[in-house]
Amino acid sequence: MDRKASCRCGSGRQYRNCCYSQDRAGEEARRAARSGLEQIESVVRVLLPLVESRGEHKVACKAGCNACCAQFVRASLPEALLIADWLRLPENAAVRARFEEKLPAWREAAQPETGELTQLMAAEAGGPQEGPAWERFRELEARYVRKRNFCPFNHQGNCEIYPIRPGICRAYNVIDTAEYCVPDAGGSPAVLSHPRLDEALRQAAALGAEGARRLGKEEHPLPLPEAVAWAVEAR
Ligand code: SF4
Ligand code: SF4
Repeated sequence: MDRKASCRCGSGRQYRNCCYSQDRAGEEARRAARSGLEQIESVVRVLLPLVESRGEHKVACKAGCNACCAQFVRASLPEALLIADWLRLPENAAVRARFEEKLPAWREAAQPETGELTQLMAAEAGGPQEGPAWERFRELEARYVRKRNFCPFNHQGNCEIYPIRPGICRAYNVIDTAEYCVPDAGGSPAVLSHPRLDEALRQAAALGAEGARRLGKEEHPLPLPEAVAWAVEAR
């Protein structure tokens, strides 16, 4: 948009003196989120085939396997902006409508755990994965997952926003069996872990925080549905 033209918001001011800086911050935040997702993807693309190459393990994650979609899934606000852009595409109108329809029920079932989990993320982001706050976080996560409150983007067992899903959904992969992905199954899932993946996740989190700072918003992630609800309104 011409920076000297009247701003599209109808304020009557020139674009450069009105929404320009906010739009620019939004573009920078989106760039940061895209870069974070690409870093995760570039590792996962290599790592998954590598795991299976010796024939000792197989990747358990596959289309239609979705117990993990009831976990406490979060996204940075820049990631949520990318999802909201995708939801605004005319061909994704039905996905957006389903999300908006499911959101109130998801919210109702998500409390009180997601409120305290979000507060802990805000207070402890980047902190050590040990100690009382970490233990409390794990306890709330476990309580949340038992509710089976599925992500509003899970439709009939499949991820409706797969091409633009957040980094946490891309990086979380389980090997050998999905049996332990449900709560109280008598064991823990074997989650794929690698130093390069850890590093990509760290970088994506830092990029997400930096993008959120540019937006003048919270640096810590939010529950995915709340982040997307904000982004759909924010433009
Ligand atoms: S994380 Fe578990 S539930 Fe989710 S797709 Fe992978 S195997 Fe299935
Ligand atoms: S974004 Fe997709 S993969 Fe991630 S929790 Fe939601 S439905 Fe599942």
